[in-house]
Amino acid sequence: MKRCLTCLAEFSGSNWGCPQCGGAPHAIGGVLAFAPELALENDGMAPDAHHTLDQMQHRSFWFRARNRLLTDMVRHYFPQTKALLEIGCGTGYVLSALAQALPHARIVGSEIYANGLDYAAQRLEGRAELFQMDATAIPFTDEFDLIAACDVLEHIDDDEQVLLEMHRALRPGGGLLLTVPQHPFLWSQSDEIAFHKRRYRIGELSRKVRQAGFDIVRDTSFVSTLLPLLVLQRLTQGRRDDYDADAEFSLPAWLDRMLEIPMEVDRLSIRLGLSLPTGGSRLVLARRR
Ligand SMILES: [Zn+2]
Repeated sequence: MKRCLTCLAEFSGSNWGCPQCGGAPHAIGGVLAFAPELALENDGMAPDAHHTLDQMQHRSFWFRARNRLLTDMVRHYFPQTKALLEIGCGTGYVLSALAQALPHARIVGSEIYANGLDYAAQRLEGRAELFQMDATAIPFTDEFDLIAACDVLEHIDDDEQVLLEMHRALRPGGGLLLTVPQHPFLWSQSDEIAFHKRRYRIGELSRKVRQAGFDIVRDTSFVSTLLPLLVLQRLTQGRRDDYDADAEFSLPAWLDRMLEIPMEVDRLSIRLGLSLPTGGSRLVLARRR
């Protein structure tokens, strides 16, 4: 069901005009915009971040390995998904992989930055419905079988409000797929440049997810095998004034390939059912109670 963000009426049908108050979302560049005041600039991310991401995502072991982990999880835990929403889909890099993992599902992507959606539209080539939205006010109730937000919650002050909104937008029994950066002690300039509000403590995300009305399906760290290297890198580079955050994602090709191996070790361990106690990121899968 659709949900009017003005009067909170719930309604179905293909038309976004609210039958109760007559309100309707704006459109920016042909895309429905539910939070147009935040579409060009906000405190969640730099306005040009999606351009940078679009250039380097496919060349980065981290993004490739995370996609394989996410699609593994979706195929294994949520194969029956008929309607997927990815929140914070940015350039559509994750969304296109999820769309391949769920070839028969309705694929929906939202992003707070209208400019990210231009890249996503190119990448998804009509496969996905895309709209601009603020995750703290989701215009749906009981609509989706699966909601994904991959490295998104750490950009948002009120992450617990987002989880409540996700809960309402999911159908009962619907799935949740989340990744976040972990360990406050790994905080560095790259978190600041990325406008992160926090890195999560061990157990923090699953606690918030349960409080929002979900049952936990999986709760594990990843980027675990690489953690010692990550610590070393933070200790040696993270405090330099001339720190170049992009350098982390534009490594020589041989090194990028090599770093993919420990990420694969994590993925295969998680696939076997292991929960990794510590690592640079956290993966939580849950179901709406
Ligand atoms: Zn209304």
